[in-house]
Amino acid sequence: MSLNIKKQLNSQLSKDVLNVLELCSQTADENGFKIYLIGGIVRDLLLKRKSFDIDISVEGDAIKFCHLLAEKKYCKITQVQNDLKTAKAVFEHDVEIDFASTRQEFYPRRGHLPVVAKIGCSLEEDVYRRDFTINSLAMSLNKENYGDVIDYVGGVNDLNNKKLRVLHDNSFNEDPSRILRCLKFAARFNFHRDEHTKALQEKYINRQLHDDISWTRIKSELKQSFSLNKAKVYDMFLVNENYKLIYGERPDIKGLEIKTLVDKYQPEHVWLVYLGTVLKNKNIIESFCFTRAEKKIFTDIEHLMNAHLSMLNSNYDIYKFFDKKTMESVLVYYLLSKRKEALIYLEKLSLIKVELNGDEIKELGITDGKQIGKILDELLKKKLAGSIVKKGDEIDFVKSKIK
Ligand code: ATP
Repeated sequence: MSLNIKKQLNSQLSKDVLNVLELCSQTADENGFKIYLIGGIVRDLLLKRKSFDIDISVEGDAIKFCHLLAEKKYCKITQVQNDLKTAKAVFEHDVEIDFASTRQEFYPRRGHLPVVAKIGCSLEEDVYRRDFTINSLAMSLNKENYGDVIDYVGGVNDLNNKKLRVLHDNSFNEDPSRILRCLKFAARFNFHRDEHTKALQEKYINRQLHDDISWTRIKSELKQSFSLNKAKVYDMFLVNENYKLIYGERPDIKGLEIKTLVDKYQPEHVWLVYLGTVLKNKNIIESFCFTRAEKKIFTDIEHLMNAHLSMLNSNYDIYKFFDKKTMESVLVYYLLSKRKEALIYLEKLSLIKVELNGDEIKELGITDGKQIGKILDELLKKKLAGSIVKKGDEIDFVKSKIK
């Protein structure tokens, strides 16, 4: 007997979403389309978890189907991708849905982006391009079998057994970013890899070369996984040797140490604190096409790790050592070196500032630019040493210089 999840649907999705699904269902029936909820949303419905993205698979041409909905004024089409025949549409009450035509893909080059072989294929053919069995489930939206789960690959069973299983032996060769997706789902749902999937993953990871890879996908999955700020993700990343994918080095750090620091200091790029502890390879850093701000974190880490530390004798030395470095890089430096000066800087010294600015010093009677710079530096030194605290004391110090 087939599994029907109409009840879950009605209890887990909002009225607005249910109404939109009803409109899609009617339109599909009237025009002879077969449509399905697909992937993450079906998985989350079965897990009784909240789902954020609604994906609908259309057996045939999803753009054509969307136009039918738009003609009836049910939605506005906001995005169309003609090569893949996908579309995004917004319905009443801001309900947003991604529509994709069923498609078959193949990977002409290992690890690179796939090429579409056929658009508008059967649902069964579409399912086999997916990553894990739990993400390969569909739910019919046509009236005659509304709510029926269509499971070609044993995904329901795997969901019940908390298993992550790939669909075929070539899966990680086709797309190694699935190794990181596996990590994300394992951490999120507390699932485990089935033995065969684990063996395939180890085989892939322990190959010498991972050059032939789509770094964009790897980067995006790393970002998603580490942005979760979960100690477990990091620990599994190390234990499963996933860092080898990016030619990383395994540090002696526990995920909880990172999470504790991240929670305390709240850096902007949380995921880069995690990644920064393993990623050293310059070529990969280049391949990741980081933004300028992200790149600076890695340059700063490199500078800090290569700098000479013997001269950190005073607060002033510590301040100068970390000054203008990104918070993420100071945290990574602490995690890798365990030098407590990094935390002294973040906790105490980085908050100390000279209150007077250049213009105010000028008004006090010092006009030479070079001398102003020197005085500002002396003031900083004194503030860091604690011999000057208040702005009044700073003014007195400047006046003493004029005399
Ligand atoms: P999330 O809850 O994180 O959004 P999701 O499963 O919805 O999880 P998406 O990244 O939105 O994840 O992908 C939607 C669907 O596309 C997945 O459920 C899966 O079927 C398929 N998919 C995504 N990435 C891959 C991949 N790298 N290889 C194969 N199939 C993939």
